[in-house]
Amino acid sequence: MECQDYGLKRTSEKNNLNLNPLQRGGLLPKESRKALIEFSDGYSICDYCAGRLDKISKPGINHFLDDLASFIGVDHARTVHGAREGKFAVMHAMCQPGDNIVVDGNAHYTTHLAAERNQVNIVEVSNDGYPEYRIKPDGFKEVLDVQLDKGADISLVLLTHVDGDYGNLTDARAVGKIAHDHGIPLLLNCAYSMGRLPINAKALNADFVVGSGHKSMAASGPVGVLGLKDEYADQVLKKSKRHAVKEIEMLGCTSRGAPVATLMASLPHVIDRVENWDQELNKTREFVKKMEEFGGIKQLGVKPKEHDLVRFETPIFDDIASKHPRRGFFLYEELKNRNIVGIKRGQTKWFKCSTYGFSQEQVDYIINAFTEIVEKYQK
Ligand SMILES: *Cc1c(COP(=O)(O)O)cnc(C)c1O
Repeated sequence: MECQDYGLKRTSEKNNLNLNPLQRGGLLPKESRKALIEFSDGYSICDYCAGRLDKISKPGINHFLDDLASFIGVDHARTVHGAREGKFAVMHAMCQPGDNIVVDGNAHYTTHLAAERNQVNIVEVSNDGYPEYRIKPDGFKEVLDVQLDKGADISLVLLTHVDGDYGNLTDARAVGKIAHDHGIPLLLNCAYSMGRLPINAKALNADFVVGSGHKSMAASGPVGVLGLKDEYADQVLKKSKRHAVKEIEMLGCTSRGAPVATLMASLPHVIDRVENWDQELNKTREFVKKMEEFGGIKQLGVKPKEHDLVRFETPIFDDIASKHPRRGFFLYEELKNRNIVGIKRGQTKWFKCSTYGFSQEQVDYIINAFTEIVEKYQK
């Protein structure tokens, strides 16, 4: 049979500035592009494997995992296929079907699916609603007290460190303290934080952390990070009865080729870049200020920003769309004409964006583009 043309060409990054927050932290530095080519064949990292992926010394996955563990403040680190697989593994090891876990109301859908696949019930700590959608650590105390009074089995508290809807950074240390006071471990979902800002799991009172290589660690995915305290190693890294060296929750081996090679090649770059987090944050806050100065654009989520993911509500663009012949598509098209992409087509009521990793010159160009669009239609 003959295959169709799948159109495997991608130009969005090469020719445009991509504002999609999902795309900002996963760009490969050049050393990782090299690793990607070098390890592009199938089981490319398995040539010198003696049975355990995490112990391979050529390439030095063993040393990489040690470095990674100290970088994120955990006793043990493993690679997984993504943050979601990390969450699934922890839940699977720590919870029984029918158990309850307490989760913040801004959690990612993959948290919900990981729980569902494990037949675990979610009890939510809601956010405080419009406009900040803030998660208050004390909400965890209230929910835990109520649940434990009822005699519910709570096996885990899961906090989304930075959520993907509003880019709110929640005080993990406070939530972890509350969880521990109730005798329950904390799983911290760092998909949007690990690799962008410094993470020290122990300092954040997290017993488990997950990260996303393709989201925030400059890696070619799918690849993720799972870190844990020694206290839980026997449970989460339990070995098979039949295949004595293989870890069950990892199904023996996780990332077995190019993705993990890129994560490894990017680690030095990521270690350096988290040091610039304050500059990234200042850039974000400046960007928000300039966008809000147009009027009819308002940043949602916690203010001032503590993360680069920004959600704006944009009645100004919705008004323009209502009169524009291209309707909601006008904004996407006006931006695209200026080589700016990453804002969903047809959407003008609100959008999410990020300037993470852009130079000041590029940010100025973006602000200038918005200025031109606003002025064009405000006449
Ligand atoms: C992107 C995202 C995920 C999913 O990460 P994967 O590595 O693709 O599984 C999970 N949680 C949050 C908060 C995210 O933003």
